[in-house]
Amino acid sequence: MVVTGSARGLGLAMAERLAAEGASVVISDIDEAALKDAETRLRDSGLSVCAKAANVTDEDAVEALIQHCVSTFGKIDVIVNNAGITRDSVMRKMSLADFRTVVDVHMTGAWLGTKFAAQQMRDQGHGGSIVNISSMSGKVGNVGQTNYSAAKAGLIGLTKASAKEAARYGVRVNAVQPGLIRTAMTDAMPPDVLAAGVSQIPLGRIGEPVDIANAVLFLASDLSAYMTGCTLEVHGGRSM
Ligand code: NAD
Repeated sequence: MVVTGSARGLGLAMAERLAAEGASVVISDIDEAALKDAETRLRDSGLSVCAKAANVTDEDAVEALIQHCVSTFGKIDVIVNNAGITRDSVMRKMSLADFRTVVDVHMTGAWLGTKFAAQQMRDQGHGGSIVNISSMSGKVGNVGQTNYSAAKAGLIGLTKASAKEAARYGVRVNAVQPGLIRTAMTDAMPPDVLAAGVSQIPLGRIGEPVDIANAVLFLASDLSAYMTGCTLEVHGGRSM
């Protein structure tokens, strides 16, 4: 399987969780140094992992990433389109470049990953699972995130349309919408802003990366064999 954007954060937690369940994982990121560190750490834990750098907006690089998984592990059963960035700013101050960059990384990146992985899964003839990491920002919209909310909502349309196209080959496509999760992104928030967000979560705590990794594990596995085109919201009850 392949997890994009997995040198750190949620992607790294997904790679670790799925590898611990026995998956052979190609971790991938645009940040080659962090990717190498992640590969060393996961391998030192005895997990079946190899690293391949790729920018998810680069068509040739994404195609090569899928083929690297096939040549290394013999096939690809799962891809998690997780790589992402933020360029937050109110719309009045947001540049067109920052709008386009965020849409490109999330939407073009997930589209390329879906296209090449689905093609390979179709050729293999044994189905597969594709998981797109959206965000609650794509459902409810956040101030300062017109680019990110648009991109994350767009991923839901991509998920549903590709799920309809790929179903006949046994390839399932689903999405996860995380809420507030403890990562470098949330660590950098002003404590009062973070506390205000956490106070709105009925389960009473911020999410941990493993909470998202567990949802991805479910969608990647046959436990979700009858699910496609679905969106799992993982947010502790916030935004019901
Ligand atoms: P993160 O910044 O810790 O990790 C994202 C990784 O993606 C980084 O390692 C980065 O180098 C990589 N990346 C960025 N651009 C890339 C590109 N063009 N090609 C390949 N890799 C690239 O972020 P995270 O918090 O772990 O977020 C992971 C995903 O989860 C993102 O899609 C994010 O939008 C989504 N998400 C996160 C949260 C949260 O609370 N952290 C909430 C909802 C959704």
